[in-house]
Amino acid sequence: MTQGILTAAYLAASVLFILALGGLSHPETARRGNLYGIIGMTIALVATIWGAQITSYVTLFSIMAISAIIGIIVAARVQMTAMPELVAMLHSFVGLAAVLVGFASYMDPTTHYEGVEKTIHEVEIFLGVLIGAVTFTGSVIAFGKLHALITSKPLYLPARHWVNLAGGLACIWLGVAFVGAESVPAGMLPLLIMTLIAFAFGVHMVMAIGGADMPVVISMLNSYSGWAAAATGFMLSNDLLIIAGALVGSSGAILSYIMCRAMNRKFLAVIAGGFGTAGGAATSAEGEQGEVVSTSAEETAQLLSEAKNVIIVPGYGMAVAQAQHTIQDITKKLRDKGVNVRFGIHPVAGRMPGHMNVLLAEAKVPYDIVLEMDEINEDFPETDAVLVIGANDIVNPSAQTDPNSPIAGMPVLEVWKATTVVVMKRSMATGYAGVSNPLFFHDNTRMLFGDAKASVDAILAGV
Ligand code: NDP
Repeated sequence: MTQGILTAAYLAASVLFILALGGLSHPETARRGNLYGIIGMTIALVATIWGAQITSYVTLFSIMAISAIIGIIVAARVQMTAMPELVAMLHSFVGLAAVLVGFASYMDPTTHYEGVEKTIHEVEIFLGVLIGAVTFTGSVIAFGKLHALITSKPLYLPARHWVNLAGGLACIWLGVAFVGAESVPAGMLPLLIMTLIAFAFGVHMVMAIGGADMPVVISMLNSYSGWAAAATGFMLSNDLLIIAGALVGSSGAILSYIMCRAMNRKFLAVIAGGFGTAGGAATSAEGEQGEVVSTSAEETAQLLSEAKNVIIVPGYGMAVAQAQHTIQDITKKLRDKGVNVRFGIHPVAGRMPGHMNVLLAEAKVPYDIVLEMDEINEDFPETDAVLVIGANDIVNPSAQTDPNSPIAGMPVLEVWKATTVVVMKRSMATGYAGVSNPLFFHDNTRMLFGDAKASVDAILAGV
């Protein structure tokens, strides 16, 4: 393949990646966006395999075949509720790849750079390994937290900001030593020490983050994985990898910004990895307990049928119970009866950005009745009934009333302002942030205990 054709193929793939991102910005065009992405990635793979100087096609194709089989099995088996963990795991692979490519690139005996070119190449390697190492261990810890292998409570080391600062300064010093080293063996030690510090920093950064702040971390690691890929592209002089990495890096950064706004956190503090919850572990509102009023599916069905305006607020529990299809059936029946049914979606509902939108789209809930928090929050006072399905943190009034709450300041859906709120969950357990929820004790709240799928099946039979 000539250089011209390779460049043209890379250009076409880049354009398709941009179209893919554009398509993915709306549920109606998401399928098309995915298709553009698949075509772009196919072009990229074929061009890279064909265009690069491959020494052993047997090795390459064997590894690709094994990886493809593993990828297909994992993708086919993964539950929708385990998708965030899978994404975190995939981010860690990008980080690890950047580290390995960095070391390989540094040790490659065939590359000989002199003067400024040598310095630039070594800076690329150093930054690529640094970002890759932080992404790798940070994503592994995020996987552990999302999979409940590690507690979602933040871990605070004493003087943790000083520890981070010392690590950062050490990395700068090691970077100067690495770039100044004359030979490969001399530069290897600072590179290795920096990698270990970056591994530790990734662990420390994500361990220090409380459950409620995890959405920001996931989008931030997404961004880091993009920059790690871009740095790998620089090391390998691969333009397409630079472009694709920059696209992932910048879209991840924009998503982090959106998530920060949704959680009312400061973006710059997040980037520095130095943010967390104000009071640590979640214990607030403990004294606010009172009477809990239970209800039945029949009563809920009657309440919904007699209401004029209904808002459904889905959360992580709907994903666990896979209740979205029955919810759509209930919605259809109620709308046929003339009830105005809408959905209120919190930006961090579920366990990954857009989690609820994906599930509702899968169940074919019309897009025009699925509204974002900002679009629907003012309508709760005029709403007769709110159905909260497996949501907890995103409807917790203590975010507004308790300044010591770990989720203090986080915008929430103000469901308690409606005439009646029915909360479906299995027990009085807390949500991901571990904060108890005074909503359950409000006079106008009714608790419908049980698995959300069984509850919505029973409601469907009653409406
Ligand atoms: P929560 O985790 O706050 O609450 C979910 C509730 O669902 C639980 O209280 C649980 O109660 C209930 N539940 C679980 N399974 C079932 C079931 N089968 N049937 C009925 N109820 C069930 O979820 P939210 O969506 O309200 O909030 C999301 C939380 O996750 C936030 O804290 C957010 O910061 C965090 N997060 C979000 C990410 C994102 O990108 N969206 C990423 C990572 C974390 P019970 O056990 O009693 O049934």
